[in-house]
Amino acid sequence: MKIITCIKQVPASSNVQVDPKTGVLIRDGNNVKMNPYDLYALEAAFQIKAMRKDSVVYSITMGPPSANSALSEALHMGADEATLISDRRFAGADVLATSYTLSQLVTHIGGYDLIICGKQTTDGDTAQVGPEMAEFLSIPHVPYVKEIVEVKEKSIILRSAYDTYDELVEVFYPCLITIDKGANVPRLPSYRRKVLFKDYKIKMVTLKDLKDQNPDNYGLSGSPTQVDEIFPPLKRTEAIMVEGKKEKLAKDMFDILKESRFL
Ligand SMILES: Cc1cc2nc3c(=O)[nH]c(=O)nc-3n(C[C@H](O)[C@H](O)[C@H](O)COP(=O)(O)OP(=O)(O)OC[C@H]3O[C@@H](n4cnc5c(N)ncnc54)[C@H](O)[C@@H]3O)c2cc1C
Repeated sequence: MKIITCIKQVPASSNVQVDPKTGVLIRDGNNVKMNPYDLYALEAAFQIKAMRKDSVVYSITMGPPSANSALSEALHMGADEATLISDRRFAGADVLATSYTLSQLVTHIGGYDLIICGKQTTDGDTAQVGPEMAEFLSIPHVPYVKEIVEVKEKSIILRSAYDTYDELVEVFYPCLITIDKGANVPRLPSYRRKVLFKDYKIKMVTLKDLKDQNPDNYGLSGSPTQVDEIFPPLKRTEAIMVEGKKEKLAKDMFDILKESRFL
């Protein structure tokens, strides 16, 4: 069984800085980590592999060359193969262009049975990449998976958690699933695997390797969403003291809330 796990490198801290001139996130290459949801996606793949011994787990990411460190972590946790898709022409990709690029990469890898994504990321946070990839690939998808109930020869049975109910579904391969946090307990990278993968060369795929090589379908030009401005929300920490009789207190507080657009 061929399993492809999608992982993304995200800022390691919520204290993210934005360049005031360009409005672009200042990505400090040292202050990054694997998206926490993707740890659960990887663990799900390893547990499926333990049930189906003939399985191979691929790990893929789209990002700058520094995202290779997330792929190394995946290899050290248990992945068998790792591929980075990176090209200057992918820069500025919105969710649609990111999903399209990743779907082109899995088409390039080919022969997959199961694609596993995290439910969402902690930076973009849209939870749309998995479902959009499935649409581009014309395969079924099951989101919000919290339990892998049974792995069968031609299908997989999953329990998904929605806001007010759970859903038990059986879906046939090839398919895509997104894994929620708490679905399992992700393992740590192992020293033994670090040694094993010491000389492993992470594969690199660029636009020229893809079936669709039209640059207009990628990056900024393939993105129908355009971000005008990115800025951290203003934090107001100063206390406002209101004094006086209860009618004045009520009016003053009403005015403050209205001015701050809470009312
Ligand atoms: C107009 C616009 C411009 C943007 N420009 C940039 C930019 O220049 N640089 C930049 O870094 N971001 C940019 N972004 C953000 C970028 O589009 C998102 O990071 C990306 O679409 C993924 O969306 P998400 O983080 O919401 O993923 P979600 O949908 O929340 O992620 C769900 C799952 O999909 C998988 N996944 C998501 N992203 C990746 C990935 N890259 N590789 C592998 N698997 C993945 C993971 O399994 C993840 O758990 C831009 C966004 C917009 C709207």
